[in-house]
Amino acid sequence: MSGELDGRVAAVTGGGSGIGRAIAYELAAIGAAVLVADITEKAAEETAGEARKRGARSAAVRCDVSRETDAAAMVAAATQRFGRLDFLVNCAGNLPRLLPVVDLPESDWNALLDVHLTGTFLCSRAAFDVIAEHEGAVVNLSSSYAFKGRPNAADYSAAKAGIFGFTRALAVELAPHATANAIAPGPIDTPRWRAGLSEDELAAKRARRTADVPMGRLGTPEDIARTVAFLLGPNARWITGQVFHVNGGEFFP
Ligand code: NAD
Repeated sequence: MSGELDGRVAAVTGGGSGIGRAIAYELAAIGAAVLVADITEKAAEETAGEARKRGARSAAVRCDVSRETDAAAMVAAATQRFGRLDFLVNCAGNLPRLLPVVDLPESDWNALLDVHLTGTFLCSRAAFDVIAEHEGAVVNLSSSYAFKGRPNAADYSAAKAGIFGFTRALAVELAPHATANAIAPGPIDTPRWRAGLSEDELAAKRARRTADVPMGRLGTPEDIARTVAFLLGPNARWITGQVFHVNGGEFFP
């Protein structure tokens, strides 16, 4: 593998599935060594194994991003295995139960924020010094629902909106050594997006959500992965603290 991230090292949380897995493959394809971190170790190992088959340097680590010790261990694993860490992609996410605010237990709220928002903070804090050392970059996965508000997912909408404020503060603190940006995807067809639906329900959801998208199709994990690759690459060194809406025109902020 060779390309514009030759010699660089990336850690991707949530790299065992969907968007995170596509990001791991894309970064590997342009030369980065990739540490795949996921709460599901087997899934992380599958991603890393496939990246190695494709010729990249890659390893897997079990990591619950909501645990401070796991975040620190992920950074240590990257530096021990590959000698450095340049990039962090915060992509791990658990699913909301889809309950209206009046029925939403505080425990659901906390569980969602713990992973999406606190996990992004803990991993970024653990990686801050090593990333700043290497003119690196952080990319955080938010969602168009942070702007639009998703009915029955106030926990998810709030966590994803919190990521914007966090990313901006992080960008200012990392400057001028490294960058931090967020991506707000529209509907991306992944295991998460299909979770719990029958074939009929899924077909109806695909039709409904595609109708919302002027570009006439749902997004793919690769649409997001290519945006991450750009933001980590040499052509994005003067871009920081920004939110990228990658959504086929579904939504204009
Ligand atoms: P996915 O469910 O396919 O993958 C999420 C991964 O995160 C899984 O491998 C899961 O095991 C892992 N994970 C869950 N909890 C974790 C934890 N505590 N620590 C470490 N790993 C954990 O989901 P996806 O659709 O690929 O979504 C990836 C990210 O993109 C999420 O942050 C999601 O909110 C965001 N996003 C997705 C969409 C979409 O339409 N799919 C749209 C906007 C934003």
